[in-house]
Amino acid sequence: MRGVAKQLDFSWTSWFRPVSPPQKRFSKSSQDDPGLTAWCVEASKSLGLSELARKVKVSWNARMQTTAGRAWWPDRSIELNPKLKSCEPEELWRTLKHELAHLVAYERSNRRRIEPHGQEWQVACADLGIPGELSCHNLPFKRRQLKRNHAYVCANCLAVVRRVKPIKRAVACYECCRKHNAGTYHDRFRLVKHTE
Ligand SMILES: [Zn+2]
Ligand SMILES: [Zn+2]
Repeated sequence: MRGVAKQLDFSWTSWFRPVSPPQKRFSKSSQDDPGLTAWCVEASKSLGLSELARKVKVSWNARMQTTAGRAWWPDRSIELNPKLKSCEPEELWRTLKHELAHLVAYERSNRRRIEPHGQEWQVACADLGIPGELSCHNLPFKRRQLKRNHAYVCANCLAVVRRVKPIKRAVACYECCRKHNAGTYHDRFRLVKHTE
């Protein structure tokens, strides 16, 4: 299995299916997202996973149909479906965390074989703030269309904040600051703009 990139749990049966070489997967239909990559780097660091922090990469893949996201091992890369940009922002963050949790579980497993959505993955989901996450990878059938205003999401608790006008200064999630930082501002809970 070493040296062969595995696509994690695209479905139960294709888990160990060898995938096409990197140059084919990361073609023109794929576009890096430096902002989401940076978030995953920080999250990996905060979990003490330095190799994952060094290698993790997030990109958008326009060829994805109904799959919301997928994770690649040992590439340590995440692909997201661009349709997520027109979903509610928590959908995007939930998917990103779901996929990152796969990489976290693998990084921690130290080449031990683990179930894609087994206990290790569930622990990683809880560590990333989405306890009780489901194993489903599909986009929701009825996607609620995003209203045409400015949406922000707390990457910690996935709360969504909407504003008529864009937020100019750094604003953090009130609930998370109250719960985890004695009510004062912390960058970790800074609201992230949801871009379409
Ligand atoms: Zn999964
Ligand atoms: Zn929050």
